[in-house]
Amino acid sequence: MPERVFNFNPGPAALPLPVLEEAQSELLNFKGTGMSVLEISHRSKEYEAINAEAEALIKELLGVPDNYRVLFLQGGASTQFAAVPMNLVPQGATADYILTGAWAEKAYQEAGKFISTHVAASTKELNYTRIPDSDEIKLSESPAYVHLCSNNTIYGTQFQSFPDFGAVPVVADMSSDILSRRFDASKFALIYAGAQKNLGPAGVTVVIIRNDLLEKIPASIPTMLRYDIHAKNDSLYNTPPAFAVYMVNLVLRWLKNSGGLEVMEKHNAEKGGLIYNAIDNSGGFYRGHAGKESRSLMNITFRLPSEDLEKEFASAATKEGMVGLKGHRSVGGIRASVYNAMSLDGCQALAQFMAAFQSKNG
Ligand SMILES: *Cc1c(COP(=O)(O)O)cnc(C)c1O
Repeated sequence: MPERVFNFNPGPAALPLPVLEEAQSELLNFKGTGMSVLEISHRSKEYEAINAEAEALIKELLGVPDNYRVLFLQGGASTQFAAVPMNLVPQGATADYILTGAWAEKAYQEAGKFISTHVAASTKELNYTRIPDSDEIKLSESPAYVHLCSNNTIYGTQFQSFPDFGAVPVVADMSSDILSRRFDASKFALIYAGAQKNLGPAGVTVVIIRNDLLEKIPASIPTMLRYDIHAKNDSLYNTPPAFAVYMVNLVLRWLKNSGGLEVMEKHNAEKGGLIYNAIDNSGGFYRGHAGKESRSLMNITFRLPSEDLEKEFASAATKEGMVGLKGHRSVGGIRASVYNAMSLDGCQALAQFMAAFQSKNG
């Protein structure tokens, strides 16, 4: 095994090498404190600077308008499945969900424990091979919000563009594609993302919320689930996951220094193109799970002619330093997760391996 592998894991996932090196270089003595970030007080000026810079960089990179806050919370994206309906749905109101995969389904089911829900669209019957078209989405009378999952980590589909929902607040789970491409953040009322796919290590969840939504939170919601409490306290109401936020901040700096989202978007299109070409040029040996018009540039899912060959593929790839390619059990086959931190070299290596594996086994 080489010193560093090409890591295609779906999450926790690869982090940029310069970020890891920087964290390593200041691990024992962070900014002259004589302590690591793991040890400093979250009330110190050093940590407050990290916290403030991370919020500012997310706003800058995503072009988030001034009337939003960025929060750093715990409990993973899964906790947001409950927090979103609790905070945003007034008594008696309904929230709409677009079902495009396993995570969207989980969000919908969790919301159903507290509020009235409506399925605005679903491609479940197609085994989530595609994203519904705008004209297939049927909102309820006056939903408190419509929830969508921008990228389906498990099935490998992604909204190529976002439908226009007019005045209805849009809530998006962007756990697996946030900061991978440009989009108009002002069209969203709330965006959330667990960090461990495209933002940093596990342990912190980013919530971007429009300020007006902080005004109407029911009094009965538990303190730790309240967006208004976390906003008022700059995500420092209780002890934050300081090291995870620090790592996210280093990733954000790396993104900015790499040219920001415009460059990242091109980079990701090029990377994904290499692997999708390998699928499309295989004469049917590799079969993509996602319909072409819904393909994800973050999670690339495909099958081989047999399950035995799929096992063989994953283990042979591991021997060549490409790990984490086994697909999720609900899709089977292979999944290559190629988030921002995956290099073009890694995708080239995988595309070459796919061609070689096919010549040997096709
Ligand atoms: C991984 C993932 C989740 C769950 O994240 P946790 O942080 O493990 O709770 C939710 N939504 C999407 C889209 C994901 O990829």
